[in-house]
Amino acid sequence: MNTRPAITLVLGDITDQHVDALVNAANSSLLGGGGVDGAVHRRGGKAILDDCRRLRASRYGKGLPTGRAVATTAGELHAEHVIHTVGPVHSATEDRSDLLASCYRESLRVAGELGARSVAFPAISTGIYGWPMDDGARIAVRTVLESAPASVTDVRFVLFDRAAYQAFETAL
Ligand code: ADP
Repeated sequence: MNTRPAITLVLGDITDQHVDALVNAANSSLLGGGGVDGAVHRRGGKAILDDCRRLRASRYGKGLPTGRAVATTAGELHAEHVIHTVGPVHSATEDRSDLLASCYRESLRVAGELGARSVAFPAISTGIYGWPMDDGARIAVRTVLESAPASVTDVRFVLFDRAAYQAFETAL
């Protein structure tokens, strides 16, 4: 039986999506930042930040490690959960692809634990963290196809501009 999820590409803002779980390209502090992270906290409201603060005070005193994922409420977003994951900063001298793949794998594992069927991802690490879009797209698509649990049936990549959309189209 083919248990691969249906993959959809969307040109737009991830905080507009109606899904069970929405993935945030967070930073390790979990306390907000720019890009996707800024938009998630701005649109999602204080409840998300409150959950993040609790996580910092309990499980992740030193911050969420790169490549890991953790869920909070989705506050005022059109989702049940936000799954925060910390992408690697791109390096010209060190191959950090495994860590980027781990962000997608761990987010999907958490989504499976939560019973989420639909999951929206941004192009993790391709903004402030400098990952080349084409390579980021290949890693994203491959990892989702390899590691989505059977319970996750709908994976949506939400791309902010046409170049990102085209990179994901090519990767698919
Ligand atoms: P990172 O720090 O992991 O690089 P960023 O949030 O800076 O994360 O960017 C990740 C990708 O998400 C970039 O391609 C960026 O253009 C895109 N992006 C930024 N804001 C949004 C948004 N609101 N919805 C979807 N994608 C976004």
